[in-house]
Amino acid sequence: MSTKKAEEKYSVYFRKYQRMLDCIFCQIAQHEIDATIIYEDEDVIAFEDIDPQAPQHILIVPKMHISTLMELQEGNHAIIQRLFSVAQHVATLLHIENSGFRVVLNCNPDGGQTVYHLHAHLLGGRKMNWPPG
Ligand code: 5GP
Ligand code: ZN
Repeated sequence: MSTKKAEEKYSVYFRKYQRMLDCIFCQIAQHEIDATIIYEDEDVIAFEDIDPQAPQHILIVPKMHISTLMELQEGNHAIIQRLFSVAQHVATLLHIENSGFRVVLNCNPDGGQTVYHLHAHLLGGRKMNWPPG
């Protein structure tokens, strides 16, 4: 295997497993690190993004550690339904359900994912641009 291929393979494993050990979103979900929590139940937590890209920028995160959308297994597809259901609820809490909002899920490096624990961004409070950057 070429060095480049080996590096790519290692980086996939790194993203999948290593980050679970010190995952920031697992720590927020377990209340070990502070966040401004907007909503929480047994399976999902929603909190303000530390670096907001819109007047309202909330992260909606399953408590179970799943590193990327590609790691989601048949058995836990229901989590996606829960993320959208919580997105609806949070949009209503923030009073942006009628003005509108955007839900974004970044996957892997080209998708712009930087935290390897599955999450959706809910952005609102301003007009969104299309296409996204
Ligand atoms: P991604 O780039 O993976 O789609 O989104 C990760 C998001 O998590 C980014 O928007 C980033 O600002 C946010 N983020 C990273 N670290 C923290 C943190 O410690 N607390 C909070 N509240 N948000 C974080
Ligand atoms: Zn995690």
